[in-house]
Amino acid sequence: MIPPNCHKALILLVVFVLLSPFKSVIAVGMHMNSRDLNVSVQFLPYQESLLKTDFDFLKTLGSWEGLTDLDRKTMDIKVGNAAELDYWLRKRVQFLIPMSLNLELGFYGEVPLRYYPNMAELPPNVENIFTMADEQSNTLMSNIGVGFYLFGKRQRQIISVNLRTHFPKIEPQLPVLGPRIGIIQVHKNSFSHRNRISVSGREPADRLLRLSFLFHEGRHSDGNGSSLGFYHSVCPPGHDYTGRMACDISSNGAYAVAALFLKKSIEVCHSCTEGHKESLKLSYLDSRLRVLDKSILTPEEIERINRYENDMNIYARQLFAAIAQKDDIRRKYLMDKLQEVNAKIHKIKKPQNIPKTYWKSEPETIEYTNGFESI
Ligand SMILES: [Zn+2]
Repeated sequence: MIPPNCHKALILLVVFVLLSPFKSVIAVGMHMNSRDLNVSVQFLPYQESLLKTDFDFLKTLGSWEGLTDLDRKTMDIKVGNAAELDYWLRKRVQFLIPMSLNLELGFYGEVPLRYYPNMAELPPNVENIFTMADEQSNTLMSNIGVGFYLFGKRQRQIISVNLRTHFPKIEPQLPVLGPRIGIIQVHKNSFSHRNRISVSGREPADRLLRLSFLFHEGRHSDGNGSSLGFYHSVCPPGHDYTGRMACDISSNGAYAVAALFLKKSIEVCHSCTEGHKESLKLSYLDSRLRVLDKSILTPEEIERINRYENDMNIYARQLFAAIAQKDDIRRKYLMDKLQEVNAKIHKIKKPQNIPKTYWKSEPETIEYTNGFESI
């Protein structure tokens, strides 16, 4: 349900509830109306600098070309230029904080059930559905804002979060009024050498890679009812990430958004070296292959391919012998057999397009206007 790194904070919240059930805090107006991308003061200086200059880089990105209708649908964009992408991100990502267990949560006053929309439709109640991990299962980022919103919805309460240790000027109890609260935890792995393209981590390609993580997290701030948070699903048998919560059923989910961002940005990144572009393409493929809109080989199909490949080895050895013996009839027979088995393998391997599924991306909001506005 909630990213694992939030567990301690939620335990604190539960203790808070037990000690003081339904303790309300005084409703205060939200003054964080401008959707700035706020970077916590708790980041190490080089991390803070990287994140802030990544946002500056985004504003210099060239306009995407050849955008298709499906691309527009994947990301809910119209033209794909720097201004639109910058706005897209600001609507969904608002607070970047380092992984921390010190967040103070509370209840922002009692809110009757009727104020939460789509109460009957909730995403699956499992962990790690809003967390992004790299190939080695190292956590990169996590959209804890949508996790808090969902937790509040399940509790039929509005959660408030104290981010003052990260943003000293912010309201002490920030109400979580929708999935677009945009609180993103950034793990130090996001800055590690393994997740850099250049040594310095400051090249244009490095910035595009980190930005793709943020666009991924941004998508988790969308959705309503059963699509709330655009949660991940378990990768099926035969997938590179079989059994991990690292795939998307929807064709407009977080991995599809990150893949599209990388694909189109690589095309217009004239300051990226060819080598760096190749590295980015691998990251693009990694995200793209997590979108489950193409068929994947089942264990049975892999087993059949193995059997056919064994047959091919046997035929190939027999073919060499036939050639050595100048036995033309047998040579032709074995050549035909090899082609026949090869065709069978290709038929199994050919990926089939599965109908694309687009989830509702409109973010849900709490219909509650007494003293503060929904985000
Ligand atoms: Zn994710």
